[in-house]
Amino acid sequence: MRQVLKALSNNLAGEMSVNEDDLRYYSTDGGVFELEPTAVVFPKDANDVSTLVKTVNEYHHLGNDRISLTARGNGTDQGGGPINTGIIVDFMRHMDQILEIGDDYAVVQPGCLYGRLQKELKQRGRYIPSYPASVEISTIGGAVANNAAGEKTVKYGATRDYVEAIQVVLADGTVTWLHAMGAQQLQHRKNLPGLEGSIFTQIEKLIHDNQETIHNHPNVTKESSGYALWRAQEGDKFNLAQVVVGSQGTLCFVTAIRMRTIPVPDPNEVVLLVSYYESLEKAGAAAQELHDLEPSALEIVDKNLIELVNRQKPELLHGLLPDGPTPAIVLLCEFDNADKQERQHKLHVAQAIVDAHAYTSVLKNTPEEESEAWKLRRSAAAVMWTIPGKKKALPIIEDGTVPPHKLTEFILRAYEIFNKYELEIAIWGHAGDADLHMQPFMDLSKASDRKKLFQMTDEFYKMVHELGGTAAGEHNDSLMRAVYRPLMFGPELEKLFDKVKHIFDPENMLNPHKKVGVDFNYIKQHLRHEYTIESIAKLERQKAQDTIDR
Ligand SMILES: Cc1cc2nc3c(=O)[nH]c(=O)nc-3n(C[C@H](O)[C@H](O)[C@H](O)COP(=O)(O)OP(=O)(O)OC[C@H]3O[C@@H](n4cnc5c(N)ncnc54)[C@H](O)[C@@H]3O)c2cc1C
Repeated sequence: MRQVLKALSNNLAGEMSVNEDDLRYYSTDGGVFELEPTAVVFPKDANDVSTLVKTVNEYHHLGNDRISLTARGNGTDQGGGPINTGIIVDFMRHMDQILEIGDDYAVVQPGCLYGRLQKELKQRGRYIPSYPASVEISTIGGAVANNAAGEKTVKYGATRDYVEAIQVVLADGTVTWLHAMGAQQLQHRKNLPGLEGSIFTQIEKLIHDNQETIHNHPNVTKESSGYALWRAQEGDKFNLAQVVVGSQGTLCFVTAIRMRTIPVPDPNEVVLLVSYYESLEKAGAAAQELHDLEPSALEIVDKNLIELVNRQKPELLHGLLPDGPTPAIVLLCEFDNADKQERQHKLHVAQAIVDAHAYTSVLKNTPEEESEAWKLRRSAAAVMWTIPGKKKALPIIEDGTVPPHKLTEFILRAYEIFNKYELEIAIWGHAGDADLHMQPFMDLSKASDRKKLFQMTDEFYKMVHELGGTAAGEHNDSLMRAVYRPLMFGPELEKLFDKVKHIFDPENMLNPHKKVGVDFNYIKQHLRHEYTIESIAKLERQKAQDTIDR
């Protein structure tokens, strides 16, 4: 090990660290697991990543132990995606540049903070609408590797719908671009020597031979689980980039991304209807009808979250709730259609739906009013992670997604499980895609809570499966959901996922034990005893330092 680290520090243009504090920092992410790496590398560019891969391979082929390589953005993943033993490859220090902004696209390095790119784009009247709620604290590379999604996905789709091409470094160190290609270009790639030719040949064959199996997956409108084999064939084009998007650094490194951008809606042409319900059933009925109007966002917040926020930071929701008892559910329904007539028509129908089910509602139609009302939904982030005490809101079942018409049943059955385990819990998320974030409050230092955790997740994911859902609508498999994914996808598709991993990464060097090749024993061994999100704290400290420096 010492030899390879020495060779790396000689060969790489970027730095390497084996500093204890660094190793501790990189051993956690936004999730509940912990794995300490051996070293952290900060590559300068794609060639540096290639050198890293080649050097590590060389040492392995000389008979030394295999060292794994795991990519990392800002470590906000909520399931253990960017943590591992072996070497962590940090893309934020150097590979964070915006390389080009065109009329309808941007080319960017993976370590660029998503919020930074979005700000640059917005100055030009453009944006990427699939941004996650963590847009200010996470990277573009992390979003691509997780197929992240968010509040606008119900209308605009997920990250994969905006990826036009990606530059990758393969497991043999080859640097290449992946994008949609016709038959001739595909044949050219298949004829290439080495790993690249082999990947194109084998993945295309695997997809061709298993058409029925690859299309047999949960029928949800939002999916970041598995390897998206079902998206690789687009009409007469073959697009390997679609298999890599959402693959969590288990197939290759992503070293540059070309993203499609779209015009930002004029804020004066956006309307937001906020409706308040006395029961979940009434809100569920309204959500289903509102969904058919194709809103640009359809979000949900439950009573528990509102009461939690009110207890912690009452000023946040000041003036945003009707007088009287706390509503069981609040829905936020947004329309951003540029065509005034179309927007007014949708709003008119939406108002009638809301009047039939909600006990009151309010229309927000100025940017200021809307941004104030969005606090109802976004306050979760401001509060969940700041609650004092040993019990923390744990991301362990925080991304279950079911077919949209099963929303009410999903929430009712989730409440039943939480009652059974006597867990305090709040629910919020994307009603339009029935993708709900729920984080039970538990104390990981207590053996009883650690035991309860897996009993509860077993029941929760079984319930999601019974409803025809998926374990991860937008947060991906990482560790926790990888063990429940076979339940949702079935053995045939799981076998194909194993093959995909083997085709891309025959020696299991890239982010091992993620997505595939992971079991309960493994994840139980690596459960943390205390939960905090260091990456967010670090970014906050950096921002504070930048302000002082300026
Ligand atoms: C408060 C909060 C809110 C969140 N809200 C959302 C949300 O609304 N929607 C959503 O989708 N997610 C959400 N997340 C989860 C997470 O923030 C996103 O998935 C985000 O896109 C991850 O980006 P990151 O830079 O932190 O990536 P990391 O956590 O560092 O990495 C994520 C995965 O990507 C891989 N990876 C990173 N860079 C590369 C690369 N260059 N090449 C190959 N693989 C790479 C890593 O190995 C890892 O498996 C939230 C998390 C938090 C803490």
